[in-house]
Amino acid sequence: MQSPRTTLEYDYIILGGGCSGLQLANQIIWKIDETGRSQKEFKILILEARTTYQDDRTWCFWDNGTSPYCKWATNKFDSWSFSTDSQRPFVHKSDNYQYYHLKGIEFYQRSLAMIETSPNLFIKLNQRIRNIKKTKEGFIVRASESLYTGGQIIDCRYSRPSYVSNAVWQTFYGYEIILEKPGRLNHEVVLMGDLRYESSGIFFNYLIPISSKTLLFQTTYIGTRYFLPNELEDEVNLLVNKLFKNKWTIRRTEAGNLLQHGDYRKNNIPDAIKGGSHWGALRASTGYAFSRILQWSSVKANEIVHCKPKIISKPFNKRVQNYMDSVFLNLIRLSPDQVCKTLINFGKNLEPDVFARFMNDSAKVSDFFKIILICPKKAMIKAALNRRFNKS
Ligand SMILES: Cc1cc2nc3c(=O)[nH]c(=O)nc-3n(C[C@H](O)[C@H](O)[C@H](O)COP(=O)(O)OP(=O)(O)OC[C@H]3O[C@@H](n4cnc5c(N)ncnc54)[C@H](O)[C@@H]3O)c2cc1C
Repeated sequence: MQSPRTTLEYDYIILGGGCSGLQLANQIIWKIDETGRSQKEFKILILEARTTYQDDRTWCFWDNGTSPYCKWATNKFDSWSFSTDSQRPFVHKSDNYQYYHLKGIEFYQRSLAMIETSPNLFIKLNQRIRNIKKTKEGFIVRASESLYTGGQIIDCRYSRPSYVSNAVWQTFYGYEIILEKPGRLNHEVVLMGDLRYESSGIFFNYLIPISSKTLLFQTTYIGTRYFLPNELEDEVNLLVNKLFKNKWTIRRTEAGNLLQHGDYRKNNIPDAIKGGSHWGALRASTGYAFSRILQWSSVKANEIVHCKPKIISKPFNKRVQNYMDSVFLNLIRLSPDQVCKTLINFGKNLEPDVFARFMNDSAKVSDFFKIILICPKKAMIKAALNRRFNKS
């Protein structure tokens, strides 16, 4: 590596322009607009490994309409359902919270457009970070063939770790589908349809109606077994054929392996600010991260705009939520059948607003009590006593 330069090119360098890197960039732009701070004060660079952004994922989240991303969403739904093959669906309908559906490409393109018109933020694609060196002034980052200097780095990179112990995986596979004729789709989200289990975890189907002719259908597994998403392909084809009688075509495939929880070695760069999935953004019990990243990026952007960036971030979880998530993870491990029962109980007995707040990390203390009351007591106590996971 070359010797350090004396003048820093950037105040901050964000490593990784995925969900957390771009959400942080967006928040900084919004906060600068809000506070009316001089546009010249910050120079922030995002370094991203990919060469182009694809429509590679869908972000869904519960919100009461206050998140800036609600306006970017393609659809919103006030109801969502839970079912098993032997029970009619239990439907939640909320007056206060909606389930928003934001297309990945929409998020990427809008974020890039904001960065392009900002005098403070810059992004460079095709920049895979190779090496980071701490100097007296800040950091030198080697990415692909170039060197960059910045006063502070914010590490938002994520790549799936190769070796994990104590893992709980969420594996899903599905399609955005175009129907031959406009279908008679319900206007509700099938959040957890046909809940079922095996010894290592649970499965369910997920359906989002996007328009009268398009929908997203996925089969999801949550459990301790690791396998590639396309192992679910045959099952998904079978289910979609059953639902739509072969009269459908695939617009795109959406699949993933989310590490909801697990122990592995992290590349912890001393004195760097950290964000994203390696640092707790993925909720351990659900795999949802979008709303959590929103909360994190809002706090971080505020600190940056007010020139008081803290290296340590506030934990994502409240203590009680942390505890409940770890008990729930243990229940997945020990009794997947009881997990199905609990989730159906949520559909049947939990107020939709309590469920929505629990899912978007804004649950009140009274919400936690309501949730505890409807959980299967014996299985939960066993899972709590057997808690083997680290706190997330
Ligand atoms: C298909 C899919 C669907 C999902 N749906 C939802 C959902 O509906 N709701 C929800 O809340 N959550 C969802 N999630 C979970 C979570 O919100 C996403 O995984 C989210 O993208 C996590 O954000 P992140 O910033 O941690 O990681 P990423 O968005 O993956 O960003 C990390 C970035 O780091 C870059 N990078 C990695 N290594 C390097 C390197 N060496 N140099 C430079 N750049 C590097 C990557 O290219 C990437 O752009 C979904 C996840 C997937 C995979």
